[in-house]
Formats: sequence, structure tokens, C-alpha cells
Amino acid sequence: MLGKLSGFDDTIVAVATAPGLGAIAVIRLSGSKAFDITNALFKGKNLLLQPSHTIHFGSIVSEGTVIDEVVVSLYKGPRSYTGEDVIEISCHGSPYIQQQIIDATTKAGARLAKPGEFTQRAFLNGKLDLTQAESVADLIASNSAASHQTAMQQMRGGFSKELHHLRDQLITFSALIELELDFSQEDVEFADRTRLYELISSSTTTIRHLIDSFRMGNVIKNGVNTAIVGKPNAGKSTLLNTLLNENRAIVSDIAGTTRDTIEEVLNIEGILFRLIDTAGIRESNDTIESIGVQKTLEKIKEAGVVVYLFDANEMTLEELRQQVASFEADNINFLLVGNKTDIAGEAAIRAKFSEIPGILFISAKNHDHVNDLKAALVEKVMSGDINTEDTIVTNARHHSALQEVLKSLFDVKGGMDNGLPGDLLALDIRRALHFLGEITGEVTNEDRLDYIFSKFCIGK
Ligand code: GDP
Repeated sequence: MLGKLSGFDDTIVAVATAPGLGAIAVIRLSGSKAFDITNALFKGKNLLLQPSHTIHFGSIVSEGTVIDEVVVSLYKGPRSYTGEDVIEISCHGSPYIQQQIIDATTKAGARLAKPGEFTQRAFLNGKLDLTQAESVADLIASNSAASHQTAMQQMRGGFSKELHHLRDQLITFSALIELELDFSQEDVEFADRTRLYELISSSTTTIRHLIDSFRMGNVIKNGVNTAIVGKPNAGKSTLLNTLLNENRAIVSDIAGTTRDTIEEVLNIEGILFRLIDTAGIRESNDTIESIGVQKTLEKIKEAGVVVYLFDANEMTLEELRQQVASFEADNINFLLVGNKTDIAGEAAIRAKFSEIPGILFISAKNHDHVNDLKAALVEKVMSGDINTEDTIVTNARHHSALQEVLKSLFDVKGGMDNGLPGDLLALDIRRALHFLGEITGEVTNEDRLDYIFSKFCIGK
């Protein structure tokens, strides 16, 4: 188990609300002296005599000066966020008042909290496991409905539950194997090989599913880079503006005027699409244009999804076929969008391209079928058998540990196929358990914890 971390016995203090001016601010203290320190500064009731989970009005007085009228909430450990005695002082939101109260508490014996230290204490006191603690940071940073939902699901322990289940399975496995080792002289097999094999197979499937969910998790947490590409005058800028419903990119009749990449973000059904408007793809001798094209090609490779926009009146069937072949050769996740259906009419245009499946036809200028395009974008990135209600891995640290778990499980499976002795199988199982434990925090060390929590902001 974990040793106590340095400074763990201190009573810590920080502003828990956002920095700057607000109507009210909350200052939080946690630790064995939280009640004493606050009581020494509080004019009103004797806080030491009040029951836990109550709130009290009074003032904070430091060195004879009244700093502010406040409301103090009391949480006796272990029934608190950190598991320690916690006090929350709600004061008026001025940064000056906040600073004065913080100064008064530090003079009275509290220490300024390090980033994430409150949540770190909650973890160390067994209030949260590591994945839940990390999801607190994600929850605070969530900026779309989907990222909020996954962080919330993790904080409530969805992911940990799944991992604990796996861990239990593997522990059963290794217990059976190890029992066998104790009786190795007698040449008995307690561990039914077929059952062991099934256990490993089902664990492998679960892990693989979690690993696969990371792509989706990344989309949910960080958004997806979306490149809108096509020849000059296809209507890329117009589409971009239609999508964003504002006119930031330059729309012009002169071919090739959008030379730079512009990034805008679109929120569709809670998923963030980072739109990169690019110069057109075409062979070019013009140097400036070439730079634009070069950038486009780089951007396409980075993009999670590429919207290939073409003028459906100008584009020939053969040209489009070639374009599709080149996207497929480069393994690009693309969406074909034929624009300007208002010119020749949608029916005629559909007939022209009927041989190529999956094209969306729109008129960016008239906003025709732009909603279909948005729905198709969501569908593109949600592809696969993962939906937002599943447990989704959003954290790169978890992702890489899961890959190690999978590797170890493969070794076990391979070992069983090759009739490896039980003690060697047990070693690989223990390796898998080790990496699982790293995710939930059952196996960890002080440096790693400090690193994880240092990515939080102060006061969390
Ligand atoms: P870009 O070079 O690909 O960014 O193309 P633009 O967005 O600058 O559009 C080129 C020209 O096509 C402009 O004159 C637009 O007004 C026009 N355009 C864009 N979308 C449509 C459309 O759906 N219908 C019609 N008729 N014209 C369009």
C-alpha cells in the first residue's frame, strides 16, 4: 500500500472557485487543523461545537480587522470530499478579499495547496480510485455534452468497475495456477485449462474493446480534426461559413484566395469538430499556391475526417472516381460532398453520380442538406461498435497501460498454446495485474502520483 506522501499531515488551503472577480468565492481548507484555524478567525458561533454538515454565518477577522462577512460550511472527516476535516468559506468574490482570507489562514497555520492536492488526498484516503480522481480533472475541463457525460460516468466509477471485474477474473486465474504449483510434485491440474483459456479470451476481448474505445474517447475529449478540401471554387469557404453561421473565412469568386489554414470549432451533438479550411488540392506551379497545397496535404493526413467538397456541376464522374481511389490508397476517412445542386438541380446531379455510393449532395449557398452533412460527420466519427453509453477510455495513461495488459494476456495465451508451465503463466498474469493496478492506483509510486495530480489546477 502507499506510504504517506510528504506534507500529507498539513492543513491545506486554496480558493476553490475560478480566479478573478465573481459574486462569491469559495475558499477550502482540508486537514486536521481546518476547524481550529477557521474557528480562530471566525466571529460568530464557536465552530468547534457545531455538528458536521452544517453552515454558519459570521465574519472573518484577522488581527483585529474584519475582512468579510462569510458563510462557513463544516464537513467532519471522513464524510468529506478529501476524507479529512474540510471547511468551505464562502466569501464575497473580490480577489482582494480572497487573498486576505487566504493570508489569514496561512498565518494561522494552513499551507497553500498544490495543484490537485485536495483530490490527491481524496484518492489517498480511499474516497476515489485513481481513474475517478483523474476524471475530476476531465469533468472540470469538459467543454461539450459528450465529454461531460464520459467524465461523469468515469467519476461515478463506470470504468473502475469494469477494471475491477477484470482484475477479479485474473486473480482467480492466478490463484488456480498457483494452487497447482503447490502440488507440482503430484502432477495435478487444479486449473481446468479450458476454463482458464475462456477466462483469458474474455478478458482479452474486454481489454481490446476498451483500447478501441480510446479513439472515440479522444474524439469526445479533444474533438476531431476536420479538413474541408476540394478544388478552388468548390465552395469550401461558403460551406465553412454556412456551418459556422458566421462569415470569418474570406469568400471570394477569385480562385485560390483562401491560402492559409483557418481553424474554427463546430459543436455537433456534443462533439467538437475542429474545422480546418484549406487551400484547394490541385497541381500548381504558383509557389504561394503550392505552399497552400502542401499545407492541405499535411492537414489531410492529420485530420480525423476529411470532407471532400466538389462542384457537382463541374466535376466529372471519372475525376471523382480517381479522387476516391487516391483517398482510399492513403487510408483517409473521407466524406464525399457534391455542392451547388441548385445550379443543375439535385435530381440531375444525383443521376450523374449514381455509380458512386455515399455522396451527400448539398447547396452550401442555399443551406440545402447542410444538416444531413452534419449528421454524416457525427456518424463518421462515431463509427465502430462503440456508443457513448459504453465505458470509454479517454486518458492516454490508461490507454498505454491497457496495451501493456493486452500484451501480457497475449503472452499468457501463447504460453498456454505452447504448454508453458504454470509458474511462467503466473508471471505473465501478474504482469497483467500490475498494469491494471497502475490504472486504478492500486500499484503506484509517489512520483507518478505527483505527476498526475500536478496537471490539476490549484484548489481542486
Ligand atoms: P472555395 O474556393 O472552395 O473556398 O469556394 P468559395 O466558397 O469561395 O465559393 C466559390 C464560389 O462559388 C463563390 O462565388 C460562391 O458564392 C459560390 N458558391 C458556393 N456554394 C455555392 C452553392 O451551393 N451554389 C452556388 N450556386 N454557388 C455557390
